[in-house]
Amino acid sequence: SLIVEQAGARRQMPADRQFPRTTRLGSMAYDYLIVGAGFAGSVLAERLASESDLKVLVCDRRPHIAGNAYDYHDAAGILVHKYGPHIFHTNSDDVFSYLSRFTAWRPYEHRVLSQVGNLRLPVPINRTTLNALYGVDLRSEADAARFLSERARPCDPILTSRDVVISQIGPDLYKTFFEGYTRKQWGLDPSELDRSVTARVPTRANEDDRYFLDAFQAMPLEGYTRMFQRMLDHENITVMVGTEFADLDRKGLARHTIFTGPIDEYFDHRLGSLPYRSLEFRHETHDVRRMFPVGVINYPSEDVPFTRVTEYKHLTGQVHPETSISYEYSRADGDPYYPIPRAENQALYKQYEALAREHDDVTFVGRLGTYKYYNMDQVVGQALATYRRLVAKRGVTGKL
Ligand code: FAD
Repeated sequence: SLIVEQAGARRQMPADRQFPRTTRLGSMAYDYLIVGAGFAGSVLAERLASESDLKVLVCDRRPHIAGNAYDYHDAAGILVHKYGPHIFHTNSDDVFSYLSRFTAWRPYEHRVLSQVGNLRLPVPINRTTLNALYGVDLRSEADAARFLSERARPCDPILTSRDVVISQIGPDLYKTFFEGYTRKQWGLDPSELDRSVTARVPTRANEDDRYFLDAFQAMPLEGYTRMFQRMLDHENITVMVGTEFADLDRKGLARHTIFTGPIDEYFDHRLGSLPYRSLEFRHETHDVRRMFPVGVINYPSEDVPFTRVTEYKHLTGQVHPETSISYEYSRADGDPYYPIPRAENQALYKQYEALAREHDDVTFVGRLGTYKYYNMDQVVGQALATYRRLVAKRGVTGKL
């Protein structure tokens, strides 16, 4: 295993902000072992080390920090995201100001076009999309709302992703934008997915073509990995990348584990395996300044094997004579990326959650640790809340 980071400038802490030390480190080398150097693990490592003066070991099986948000300069020198486009957006002042300690920002409003035949149309569907697709001239929000409601087909009850879309915009737009894309992305028909999946992509009667509407929309100025390096740069934090949790000799290692990998993996799948959707990325560099008008083009047709293509320079603002793009393919097998939102999977997760409550030497956090389809800001919020809970609990019980 490679120890990539150890020691940083020691920061002076006011005494009243220190974690109450109700137990001593004793024979243990670390207070906390954190599995996973993504947002969940890195935020907790930073808080425990710098705010509470505790010794933390972070391990990640991947050869780098930053989890799925990892970015790097490719062979051409272009900053790309190894695991697909990550756009930061949040409505939380707390999350934004917390991360702002570790990075400056570049304002960026994400836009996505969907390739439908020869047309590239804004998604989420807005008035521009409708006018271009149907060759109509809807001039107001009221016109567009009426147009959509005339196509909508009421479904009662609304149980699945398909019901949500058809009840809002009808079968034609459903087939054009959602059916094929969802089948490719999830390997399931929308009628087999929870309604919550599509609730993430609203339609609009105006011409606003921004993909997100959050108050804060920005990219870390020097990239995500740089932001994570600053978070983990503390003398109380040791980071081991390329290190499997299962391969660590945990005897005498740490008093408590924070696990941000898949919760079912931690328990050796003893209640059954939680299903995850995986992804594969094909990265390419082209000898042109710019290929697409926006950062991401979606491909909803099942005739095309990938779901979307990203051109990174839109996201990062980098000026470079060449451009790098990535094709994204959904896969059934491979690294776990997305918890699959179906009722039976939630039920199985709940069983693991109950099992976790019986183990007070481990805390589960993050997208895989809590089997939830979380964005980056939600994971940061969850990690900050977990830190506050650990502080409170340790103060009361002294167990952690
Ligand atoms: P991760 O980043 O997955 O980190 C978990 C880490 O734990 C991994 O690095 C893994 O290697 C490690 N690990 C797991 N098990 C073990 C083990 N046994 N031993 C050692 N290490 C282990 N969110 C947004 O807000 N905006 C976006 O635009 C966006 N786009 C996304 C695009 C894609 C393609 C994907 C997949 C996700 C996207 N997200 C986006 C979500 C975002 O990636 C997650 O919210 C965030 O990365 C979750 O952080 P995490 O720490 O929970 O998990």
